[in-house]
Amino acid sequence: MPRSVKVGVIGAGPGGLLAARELRREGHKVTVFEKSTRVGGTWVYDPTTDSDPLSLAPDRVAVHGSLYRSLRTNLPRQLMGFLDYEFPEPSESFVDPRAFPAHKEVLAFLEAFARDFGIVELVRFGAEVVRVWQEGIEGWWAVEWRNTDGMVTAENFDAVVVCNGHHSEPMLAEIPGYGILTLLGNRIICFNPSCDIACRFKYHYPFLQINEFISNEDNRVGPLYKHVFPPPVAPWLSFVGIPNKVIFSLMFELQSRWIARVLSGKVTLPSEEDMMASIETYYQELEHVGRPKHHTHNLHPNEIEYLNWLASEVDLPPIEDWRLQMYRAAIENLKSHNDGYRDNWNAAYWTEKSISVPKRNPE
Ligand code: FAD
Repeated sequence: MPRSVKVGVIGAGPGGLLAARELRREGHKVTVFEKSTRVGGTWVYDPTTDSDPLSLAPDRVAVHGSLYRSLRTNLPRQLMGFLDYEFPEPSESFVDPRAFPAHKEVLAFLEAFARDFGIVELVRFGAEVVRVWQEGIEGWWAVEWRNTDGMVTAENFDAVVVCNGHHSEPMLAEIPGYGILTLLGNRIICFNPSCDIACRFKYHYPFLQINEFISNEDNRVGPLYKHVFPPPVAPWLSFVGIPNKVIFSLMFELQSRWIARVLSGKVTLPSEEDMMASIETYYQELEHVGRPKHHTHNLHPNEIEYLNWLASEVDLPPIEDWRLQMYRAAIENLKSHNDGYRDNWNAAYWTEKSISVPKRNPE
């Protein structure tokens, strides 16, 4: 008999929306805490800027989003969708039918997803999580949140899934000739060759009060088994969306499905010792190839291997060939540093490739 537990999800960006859907599908009772007033996370464009763009003042008024007004996706629209909920194909009825649409299109897609799967009803809006801790060893997980009136309330859960994103806290870099470069809250003070964002962002979990189990050292959040579960408290605490350089939408979906099934008992995790050993091996491999600690969660060039590993854990076939080919082509284009790569994309060819295969049916 699958186990059904009470789960608190922190954040209603794409990661939190997928976590909520997968958890509920698996029979868990879900509450999503979202500090803003709507779903969509990063994809909610906010024209205001941080009160302190260098993020030095502890009491700064922070802006969650870091989109700029003209931002378009850096992956083609087909790779922004989910396994059984595709990003709509271009059509005349669409506001922006381009292969790499503007950010508004992604937000509209996420809002439709949240509505169609009844996720909006699970979200407590204007609820900023300020503290998460465990009541005694193997006890409840308490989530304390502040509403828009400043009132603080706590509630107990069996499990907590952290989906608060990691594109809000800038990482500062001193570059000779340029000074301090950063990107924050809709203000870009740094650059990269594709005229998009530079991923210098910091992981930030100010609400987590479990320092004995998990730390964030030089942007390595750990120890985390497969970037998701801290072994000493697995599966009761988990993280969606930590890795970068990956097909984000697929990763959110697969990580979420894995968490939901581990919580229901359909999928078993290795022992704590084995998970720790696996993490240690991974760290040693990084060291061996000279990868700095702050690149711990940068999956490239092993991102597809990671996605396929997650898929196999939840009994799904490996990522379809068309998705892989499209992703590789998109990455090559991105690396070409050619600003026009989005508009030079052979949209007709790729659309044909993606629609010529049977689609997965929703469960
Ligand atoms: P977010 O989208 O950041 O959502 C986190 C949510 O948690 C937010 O709603 C926030 O309000 C909420 N939250 C945070 N803290 C708390 C708290 N304490 N209490 C309650 N709620 C909280 N990905 C792509 O696939 N394609 C792209 O083209 C692409 N372009 C990008 C461009 C930019 C400029 C950036 C910054 C990112 C881009 N990404 C892209 C990656 C993008 O971050 C992911 O697609 C995705 O939005 C991350 O989802 P998330 O749910 O992990 O985090």
